[in-house]
Amino acid sequence: MGFIEDKRFIQYGARCLFFDRHEGVSDNPFDSLNVSFNVGDNPSNVKNNIEIVRQLANADKIFTINQVHSDLIIKYGDNIKDADGVYTKEKGVFLGIRFADCVPIVFMDIKQKIIMVVHAGWKGTHLGIAEKACEILFDEGCNPDNILVSIGPHICKNCYEVKEDVASKFGSCSIKKKDGKIFLDLEKANIVQLEGMGIKKENIESMGICTYENRDFFSYRRDKKCGRNIGGILLV
Ligand SMILES: [Zn+2]
Repeated sequence: MGFIEDKRFIQYGARCLFFDRHEGVSDNPFDSLNVSFNVGDNPSNVKNNIEIVRQLANADKIFTINQVHSDLIIKYGDNIKDADGVYTKEKGVFLGIRFADCVPIVFMDIKQKIIMVVHAGWKGTHLGIAEKACEILFDEGCNPDNILVSIGPHICKNCYEVKEDVASKFGSCSIKKKDGKIFLDLEKANIVQLEGMGIKKENIESMGICTYENRDFFSYRRDKKCGRNIGGILLV
């Protein structure tokens, strides 16, 4: 174990990697590849884990943001850290999103070689962060036909139970009611946004992994006190 790769990106000079929880140095309940300093893990272990990720990704640098469930997307190099998305044209920098049920989404304009990652939990999804991501890429001169999107591991539509207050913020196509419970399909909600912005259906791919069901990944819903996985993209 280590990471899963969306291999579509390789031919365009990029590596899109979603790391699982293995091969790190943190102890239970952060075992072992936790990349978050904010969950109670030993900071030196977290530093070591980020270095392990850097080496496995063969990156010069790992860049992550302080994810705050916003719709703010920054450019790498901006002097801002609180955000939920980041993009760059720079090679060698692995742009990483921390996740443990929320949806990590990777973008690349294959012609202009611009890469972007965003973090879409229910709040970011409700704020339309996937649409915002597309708008920024279009402002950078990207054509929707040239944008590849990868949806990383996250809690799936069969596992993500929500209350009415959250469900009411989403359209009926991403909500399912079953046995008196309500489930939210975050992947679908984001795909609707992406397609609405003109991204081609065939250019959007999900890794099809549920963090709640698959114990190779951290899941906040399942474990409460746990680490965070990392996923993202690097121009090589
Ligand atoms: Zn699931």
